Amino acid sequence: MTPATVVRLERLHYPVTALGPGRRLGLWVQGCSLACPGCMSQHTWDPSGGRETTVAAVGDAWREALDDGADGVTISGGEPLQQAGIVSLLAALAEARDRARPEADILLYTGYTTREAELREPAALAFADAVITGRYARARPTRLIWRGSANQRLVPLTALGRRRYEPYLDAQPAQPPIQVGQDGDDVWLIGVPRSGDLAKLGHAVRDSGIGFTETTWSREEHTRG
Ligand code: SF4
Repeated sequence: MTPATVVRLERLHYPVTALGPGRRLGLWVQGCSLACPGCMSQHTWDPSGGRETTVAAVGDAWREALDDGADGVTISGGEPLQQAGIVSLLAALAEARDRARPEADILLYTGYTTREAELREPAALAFADAVITGRYARARPTRLIWRGSANQRLVPLTALGRRRYEPYLDAQPAQPPIQVGQDGDDVWLIGVPRSGDLAKLGHAVRDSGIGFTETTWSREEHTRG
């Protein structure tokens, strides 16, 4: 296998309802060197963590989700644009979508700014319907949906992306969409908690007599999950 045909994933989950509109396939890649202070996903920083899988295997999961009526796929992480296979992955996702369900959208998160992302991996952006760009900035909390800090930009890139995401550009729901999952002893959150939410969660869990032995957000507050 060549680097272009593999991706390193931290997690794949369906359905995801807290990172983009509707019911979605969620892909979290493993590896990020941007090291934003306060990142809630520090377990995704190590580029040798997670598991290596093929673009073809992710494509199979995506086709299953499309057959189930998925509204889209969200690629997050970790830093997707640091994956050698990201262009192949996005191309495969777009091709399967075009064949099976053209109304399903592709949403890509990146910690790079829009300009940095365009310079770093223009081919990847060519396959996305929308991107959410920019590093997490702990000092700039926001109530904007799906974003962890006010500097992060939701940018529609295609006609589908504009139809689907323009209604959300300035949306500030009363509560951010959050999903909770459990995997053995692991409890994990999908979504972008607001500033302070994870600290409150930790206190509530402690008050109920349960303790976390480890968290992915260290002792600080976070974004993006
Ligand atoms: S917030 Fe995103 S870009 Fe920043 S360190 Fe965490 S995973 Fe990387």
